[in-house]
Amino acid sequence: MTFAKSRESLGSEIESLLGEDIVLRPDKSSFEDFKADLGDFASEPAVVVQPKTADHVSKVLKYANDRKIPVVARGAGTSLTGATSTFGGIVIDFSKYMNRILSVDTTNWYAHCEAGVVLDDLKEELKKKGFFFPPDPASAPWCTIGGIISENSGGMRTFRYGTVRNWVLALNVVFADGTKAKLGEPLPKNRVGYDLVQLVCGSEGTLALVTDAWLKITPTPEEEAGTPVKKFMVFFSSWEDAVNSIVGIRSSRLIPNLLEFMGAEALQSVDDSFEIGIPVHEATLFMEASDELIPKILAVCKSNGSVDNYIAKDEKDGERLYSARALLHLGVKSLDTGVYAEDAVVPVDRLADYVTFVKQTAKKYGVKIPLAGHAGDGNVHPSIVYHKESKESRESADLAFADIIRYAVSLGGSVTGEHGIGKQKLNFARDQLMERNGPKVINLMQEIKKLWDPNNILNPGKFVVEDSGEKS
Ligand SMILES: Cc1cc2nc3c(=O)[nH]c(=O)nc-3n(C[C@H](O)[C@H](O)[C@H](O)COP(=O)(O)OP(=O)(O)OC[C@H]3O[C@@H](n4cnc5c(N)ncnc54)[C@H](O)[C@@H]3O)c2cc1C
Repeated sequence: MTFAKSRESLGSEIESLLGEDIVLRPDKSSFEDFKADLGDFASEPAVVVQPKTADHVSKVLKYANDRKIPVVARGAGTSLTGATSTFGGIVIDFSKYMNRILSVDTTNWYAHCEAGVVLDDLKEELKKKGFFFPPDPASAPWCTIGGIISENSGGMRTFRYGTVRNWVLALNVVFADGTKAKLGEPLPKNRVGYDLVQLVCGSEGTLALVTDAWLKITPTPEEEAGTPVKKFMVFFSSWEDAVNSIVGIRSSRLIPNLLEFMGAEALQSVDDSFEIGIPVHEATLFMEASDELIPKILAVCKSNGSVDNYIAKDEKDGERLYSARALLHLGVKSLDTGVYAEDAVVPVDRLADYVTFVKQTAKKYGVKIPLAGHAGDGNVHPSIVYHKESKESRESADLAFADIIRYAVSLGGSVTGEHGIGKQKLNFARDQLMERNGPKVINLMQEIKKLWDPNNILNPGKFVVEDSGEKS
């Protein structure tokens, strides 16, 4: 059977199983929205299903499992690592219909949402009630609850509040064979059984598909502090002074709600694209804290050589500062035709070494690497800018990418803090696990995958590193 014929017959079979209103077939749709993720990893689904209920998801998975057809869940496709890419698999798009906020419980402090809810829509709804859900990937205007759970996303507030997995109480999932189940309970405490919720968080759609989730919520920082909180920036003429300030803030036990950094090139690229109007210095720290805390933080920065600062005048002005950091990826994307968005983590006290190494690497390979990141937790986003059409430029970018990931691991860091493994970092993840954790741990991960998905239909070829060769 040819590929084209099998895609067509697959489309018509799934259409008769589910109805034509929720199935996009290759002979009737161009799949334009599903041909790449935001990291530019190409994709060619055989069929796209847009379920309205968990039963629809269950039916597709049972069908696919019986025939060993790959299935890839998709939220907004903002993944930067090829995590939603498939050639010939069924894509389940949760964003079209499964996007309802089912309830917000302000006594038990949770929100119950379908997988396709856009994160900013949830935040908006919670804000009306004086609550918030702290994890805030910069993709919040587009990314979905299913996507952030499956990627265990971070963001600017991770330093203070942790990543998404710290905010997930319970999940409704569908397993690879189509069985539906609830994992965990929407309770602040629950000690029953192994923690399968946490296993699903960050598993990149390789263990089970999430149809809806109970997420922990908390009062907004203003409600919690009982005083206004403000966003502000502190400017430095050297990276060394900025990094010393980060270390100083942490060791003084000061905890801003946000602790981010941006280098001159990164800030300039955002300003050139979006005209935000922020002065460009060699290094900038971006923070949010209560009125009471701000002077203490500024004093630490001053003693470490800060040259200036700017405190937002009001909430709208604060959002302007926030957007300068949130628009990083889109800003650096405007510098050329290709960008590798890197997200290695290093111990915070090694940040200065890492920044120096990245700058040397950029020089060595003749590529631009604007820098920004989550200063508070050591998660750095060097963006390696290259010219897609030039083989030489692509090769230089590949070499720089590999060098800066490996250097992070050599400092005691990790190959990814946020964006995950997808297709992009399989080899780097394997090397890190092998070096730090050993073949037994890799085998254990392989066995978990086999147990949950014996036919390997859920997002195959992603996230789970190759067999280490050791048999347990
Ligand atoms: C401009 C920009 C800024 C970003 N900033 C950040 C950041 O600050 N922090 C950060 O952590 N990441 C960031 N990212 C990366 C990305 O946005 C996040 O990982 C995001 O959470 C992915 O959500 P999504 O809905 O787009 O998921 P998708 O890209 O659609 O999917 C991501 C993964 O989740 C799986 N998946 C999706 N839905 C389900 C489901 N219902 N059940 C099971 N598996 C599912 C997919 O199969 C895939 O493996 C950024 C990306 C961009 C483009």
